Parts: sequence; C-alpha cells; structure tokens
Amino acid sequence: MPPVFRFAPSPNGFLHLGHACSALLNFDRARETGGRLLLRIEDIDATRCRPEFETAIYDDLAWLEIAWETPVRRQSEHLGDYRAALEKLAALGLVYPAFESRAEIARLVAAREADGPWPRDPDGAPLYPGDANSLSAGQRKRLMESGAPYALRLDMAAACRRVAGLTWHELGEGPGGEHGIVPARPESWGDVILARKETPTSYHLSVVVDDALQGVTEVVRGQDLFHATAVHRLLQALLGLPAPAYWHHVLIRDEAGHKLSKSSHSTGLRELRAAGASPASIRRLVGLG
Ligand code: GLU
Repeated sequence: MPPVFRFAPSPNGFLHLGHACSALLNFDRARETGGRLLLRIEDIDATRCRPEFETAIYDDLAWLEIAWETPVRRQSEHLGDYRAALEKLAALGLVYPAFESRAEIARLVAAREADGPWPRDPDGAPLYPGDANSLSAGQRKRLMESGAPYALRLDMAAACRRVAGLTWHELGEGPGGEHGIVPARPESWGDVILARKETPTSYHLSVVVDDALQGVTEVVRGQDLFHATAVHRLLQALLGLPAPAYWHHVLIRDEAGHKLSKSSHSTGLRELRAAGASPASIRRLVGLG
C-alpha cells in the first residue's frame, strides 16, 4: 500500500509561507515515497471559515504546482462521522458537559491563582479549572434542559487511566529537538473540549477521525501542533484507530521572529505572488529550494 499524506488547511484566511512549507513538504514526501497526497478542508468553525478562502486555497496550491487527489474532504460535510466518535467516547464514560462561559473560566482561573500558579497547557492556556465533572446527573439534565450553552469535555484523568504509555513515531522534530519514539503526555492538556452544544466536534476529534477514515499514514505539519499530537494519540487509542507517523517541521517566522498569522501580509502567498514571486522562489523562501 502506498503511503498516504494530507495537507489540511482551515479556510479562515489566506495561506502564508508556513502553509506553503507544509503543503510543499507533503507534496515532496508523497512524490519521494510513491505515496498519495490528499487535501482536506478543515472548515468546522462556521463563524470563521469563508468560501472565498477555500477557493483561494485551491488557487494558491495549484500556483505552487502542487497536485492533490479529488474529491477533497470538507469536514463540514461529515459531522455525522465526528458525532459517532463522540458517542463512542461518551459510551466509555469519558465525556461530560461543562457550562461555564469563557468569562467564568477566566474568573475561576484568577481565583485559583490566588493560591499559586494554575497549570497551563503546552500552548500556554490555563487548564480547565471547573468542577462540572462532579455535577450530578440531575443537575446536568436541568442545565441542559434550561438551554444553557455547554462544551463537551474529555475526562482526561479517566481517559489516561484506560490507556497508559502512549508514544508516537516522530520523523521530523519537536520544538525541543524530539525525534524518534516520543512519549505522549496528553495529561498536560487537561480536560480538552471535544465538542460544543452547537458543533458536534472540535479540531482534535475531527483530525483524528479523518486521518483514520482517509487512511493517512504520515502526518506532515508545523511544529505548533507537535504537543497536540499527544491528545491525538490518546483519542486514537480510545477509539481504536491506527496511529500514523508524524513529521513536524520547523515553523517559518517573520523578520521579527514571530509565528506567521493569516493576517501578516508580508508573508501571504497572494501578496508575494503579486509582488512577482515565482513558485520556485517560494520554495527557496521556505527552505525547500
Ligand atoms: N487545520 C489545521 C491548521 O490549519 C491543521 C491541522 C493538521 O495538520 O493537523 O492549522
């Protein structure tokens, strides 16, 4: 079976040099290994994703001379697949609804910090500070029936008790130089959100479901997602899904050393192209020349 790669952008802005690096690396790895390259549009966040950004993704990738297989998988068309995975986790007793708003969470964290630093996840966000996991079934039912919004969270401690000793195969490099067999520490993320009242999935859940459904064998993406791989490995183990190998690449940064964002115009592919860049010059700029 040929290896299967995927490039999985979110259409919530225009692509920049960081995306070009991921897309070109995927394309090159697929070519070198006789593998297949899939494109997946990660558009579950309906408030931020827009059709014109999706069109621009196809246009920019074609301009970069990248070829991908069709049909393209668009996550918004497969919510039933994610719902099924969520139900599987719920049936294991690993999912609970939490009703705090963002503002309430911030207040809870501030209150806990009065007693010393509150733990943060690898992205620097405070771990979930609430106690929704200990609400009684009756309290949960009443809150849900009241129409209150909620997030469905993973009971991380219970999940980690079910599957211990997880690792992944890192073919690239983590931000701390990690390579080879890397131990996964999903507990560093706390009770992550798996879905919300109005959206039956989250980035973590859909990426894991899709990589398995699409038969992806090697995930090539930026180092900003290196630590998230621990959550992905945990969900794969809980859902009985195969583990792909991972290749995290160094992030492309702007002149000031900052991570690129979809609004930084100096490194946007559209702007560079309008200023006369060629696909070959983009390859050189991202170190793949
Ligand atoms: N959709 C994610 C992003 O645009 C990438 C997800 C992944 O490669 O796992 O950052």
